[in-house]
Amino acid sequence: MYHDSALDPATPVKSWWAETLPGVTCYSALTGDVETEVAIIGGGYTGLSAAYHLAHDHQIDAVVLERAYPGWGASGRSAGFCCMGSARLPWDKIVARYGLDEARRFWRSQEAAVELVAGLIAHEGIDVERTGSGEITLAHLPSRAQSIEEEADYLDTTFGATHVFLSKPDLVERGMNSPRLHAGVQNPVGFGLNPWKYVNGLAAAARAAGARIHGGTEVVHWTRNGGRHELMTPAGRVRAAKVLIATAAYTPEDLHDDFGGRVLPALSSIVVTRPLARDELELQGWSDTTPACDCRHLLNYFRLLPDGRFLFGGRGGVSAAPGMLARQLARIEAAFRRYFPAWAGVEVTHRWSGLVCLAADLVPHVGAWPEQPGAHFALCYHGNGVAMGTWSGRAAARLIAGVPGKGGEDERADFIRRPPPRFPLAFLRPLYLRGAYLKYGLDDIMP
Ligand SMILES: Cc1cc2nc3c(=O)[nH]c(=O)nc-3n(C[C@H](O)[C@H](O)[C@H](O)COP(=O)(O)OP(=O)(O)OC[C@H]3O[C@@H](n4cnc5c(N)ncnc54)[C@H](O)[C@@H]3O)c2cc1C
Repeated sequence: MYHDSALDPATPVKSWWAETLPGVTCYSALTGDVETEVAIIGGGYTGLSAAYHLAHDHQIDAVVLERAYPGWGASGRSAGFCCMGSARLPWDKIVARYGLDEARRFWRSQEAAVELVAGLIAHEGIDVERTGSGEITLAHLPSRAQSIEEEADYLDTTFGATHVFLSKPDLVERGMNSPRLHAGVQNPVGFGLNPWKYVNGLAAAARAAGARIHGGTEVVHWTRNGGRHELMTPAGRVRAAKVLIATAAYTPEDLHDDFGGRVLPALSSIVVTRPLARDELELQGWSDTTPACDCRHLLNYFRLLPDGRFLFGGRGGVSAAPGMLARQLARIEAAFRRYFPAWAGVEVTHRWSGLVCLAADLVPHVGAWPEQPGAHFALCYHGNGVAMGTWSGRAAARLIAGVPGKGGEDERADFIRRPPPRFPLAFLRPLYLRGAYLKYGLDDIMP
């Protein structure tokens, strides 16, 4: 669906995060034949969390096969919101379609996902530059103040959430002033982190627990032979009893005959400024480091980073051809300057884009693949995989180990256990995306 450069590991990511951790560990390519219990395709939060939990919690041998290097996909270039929100299907529709009990189980799993990341970074001593407390959704039009408050009330009543409404004066008082933001609601669950430090820390913890991790190792062919899965890579072969697909938006269409047409990659892009001085922050009235986003369908998300840089990102754009990506990044930068006029002249030092993974039914998927014995999947977090990818990796590890969740209960809502459904007429996915963006774009500007 996208220009080759978006999927080519040789294309530099150019993210700010990569500069914050010099001298990252190199994970060598697989050579020769190896046997393992579990082969994991993809070395992002999902694959690494699965490897960590298999090795650390269940003493099961796991090999991670990553085409580029750990964190190269969406994980190392995310905005670092460790928050809830891994489905695009609205909560009232989740309740209507799957029932209240399953919706509640899904809600709990998302809260647990944030707790899991917090616990992991504490337990493994990963310095992720944690910032803020919770996540704040902001009304980008005065008329949206009421709708975000009503939505928060619905979530509090239905799921026992504890949102706090923030009026415009509340926002100004807590250091979140923008002429374009009119009110907010804070979900106390969540925080910000440095995603590059997190994903590298997770890789180191997985390796220390006994998992084997190979960078520069693309799975180019997948067959079954004598009851075992055989994964061919350019310089080696892995034979495994079980396989986990953890390739998210970077899943090649031909990874497996039966897995094509099940995910829809969508672009998300970020700009980061130079560090802002204290008086520049005061001029805008922004000092809060809590991760925040507006309430558009094609949302803008932003956070003040620990060293005073400001990160601003947004969804949208349908082409990853270099010229088109540059235009999309210019649109994001223009939105940043509209939201924060006091910083109109502040230099943007880093710009990058990546792909997030959508499913046709707009919910995540983590489970065993019924038609392919031993094959598992964990993907489709709809642009919200820091927490849910980590949780889904653990859920997949538990499933593979045959150990139910805490208290003997499987934590996965029923509706996320099946494989992502195939998009009808999958070759039309670029058109579906264009159509959705057109509709969303119009909805977002309606008062
Ligand atoms: C710009 C941007 C901002 C984002 N911001 C946030 C945020 O603030 N908070 C949040 O929660 N989420 C955010 N996301 C989404 C989040 O990054 C993803 O949901 C998450 O990283 C998915 O993790 P993953 O491990 O499932 O997949 P990925 O990290 O995408 O990893 C998949 C890996 O599979 C590898 N691969 C693919 N095919 C093969 C093959 N054949 N053989 C071997 N390896 C293969 C790829 O190289 C890739 O590294 C953002 C995403 C983007 C792009």
